[in-house]
Amino acid sequence: MKIKKGDNVKVMAGKDRNKTGKVIQVFPGSDKVVVEGVNIMSKHMKTRRTGEKGQKLEFSGPVNASNVMLICPKCSKPTRVGSKVLVDGAKKEKVRTCKKCNEVIA
Ligand SMILES: [Zn+2]
Repeated sequence: MKIKKGDNVKVMAGKDRNKTGKVIQVFPGSDKVVVEGVNIMSKHMKTRRTGEKGQKLEFSGPVNASNVMLICPKCSKPTRVGSKVLVDGAKKEKVRTCKKCNEVIA
């Protein structure tokens, strides 16, 4: 998966289209990500005692990773993510790159 926790992304599809936010959780197995403030869902907590008010809990639900685009920290544009291998002596490191400005994304 190209999206990592802590990335800033832009939502490209669905009810929260064009919203941007920070990735707070990734589910690599199902290709889903949770983006702060996106796909808000609410759940009603059950009352434990009579007379107590039920609480509404709001949280961000997972969205498909294919529906979000990484916002490049260098050029601030939503971009597709490329990859390249950096070679430093005997050490090889696969890094993500921005398809727009070709900068390496940490
Ligand atoms: Zn860029």
